[in-house]
Amino acid sequence: MSNFDEIIKVLQENNNFLITSHINLDGDGIGSELALYFILKKLNKKAIILNQDRLPKIYDFLPDSGKVHYLEDNSVNPKKIDVVIALDCSNIKRIGKTYEIFKDIKTIINIDHHKSNENYGSINYVDYSTSSVGEIIYELIKSIDIDLLDEKISTCLFTAIMTDTGSFRYSNISSKTFGVASHLTRNGIKPHLIANNIYNRNTYPGLKLLGEALLTLEINESSCVSWLIITRKMLNNTNANNEDIEGIIDIATTLNNVEISILFRETKNNKIKVSFRSKGNFDVNKFAGKFKGGGHPNAAGCLCSGKLEEIKESILSELFDDIKYLGYEN
Ligand code: 5GP
Ligand code: MN
Repeated sequence: MSNFDEIIKVLQENNNFLITSHINLDGDGIGSELALYFILKKLNKKAIILNQDRLPKIYDFLPDSGKVHYLEDNSVNPKKIDVVIALDCSNIKRIGKTYEIFKDIKTIINIDHHKSNENYGSINYVDYSTSSVGEIIYELIKSIDIDLLDEKISTCLFTAIMTDTGSFRYSNISSKTFGVASHLTRNGIKPHLIANNIYNRNTYPGLKLLGEALLTLEINESSCVSWLIITRKMLNNTNANNEDIEGIIDIATTLNNVEISILFRETKNNKIKVSFRSKGNFDVNKFAGKFKGGGHPNAAGCLCSGKLEEIKESILSELFDDIKYLGYEN
């Protein structure tokens, strides 16, 4: 899929845009939002970025990161929006409470790379062969006018691609991904500084939380599944916050022979957020779907109601049945 004509027409014919992304904002969502914001400004359009959640601190180095608003800012007047652009959101629920602000707006452009995307927009551009929405926005810019691509936009798009590919380690990358990254690096960006900002600014409470979480690490008999727990008590003890949880599951995935890892954590609304990662062919998006969640084949999640221990037992038991059936346990 490479036809952006319909989207470009809407961008040209309207003036006031609201750009949004998913709850639990990530680098792909934020980088893509800012890149699109800069493009719209260059096209002399008015654009606002509004998400349910606050910008995670690790992304505050991005150019104009102060333009990434969150709901409690109260800085958006919905009467002045012609078009909503939702980035990296597979369904309306993923947009969160921000949806309430624009639910009466007729034109919603849904740009995403999740296989499970529900085509909820009036225009849907979903390409799950791409690493990230950042890669799609790059192609969109190429279709508008590649000369619009400057250092600021390149920094945002590189951040989107780097974070959604686990620094170019996941199976969602293609030679095209490297081609895009290579082009972006020709625009004066500094990939090592971007990486330092995102990955080398751990907080002391964050590392203490990692220590506590690792104490809960378990593996199954055949060592192909690992799992961890983060409770409210652990967050309180260490003084860590939600942003500090980012990346902890990935450490459980680094275990030799582990194919699938899971993080169970208590949210402040008494729910259990479950994150899944896989290194090989096991499709965690499909598996998370059994619990009304979703995501990508190698990274997915779901939100459950109930007691942590019970949810953990039921998800693990379902997973053990699946891997037995698929022949992971030899
Ligand atoms: P994380 O585990 O880092 O929160 O999420 C990993 C990926 O899974 C995200 O990029 C997102 O695509 C997806 N994801 C996480 N939680 C949910 C959920 O509750 N529902 C759906 N549909 N996708 C989720
Ligand atoms: Mn993404």
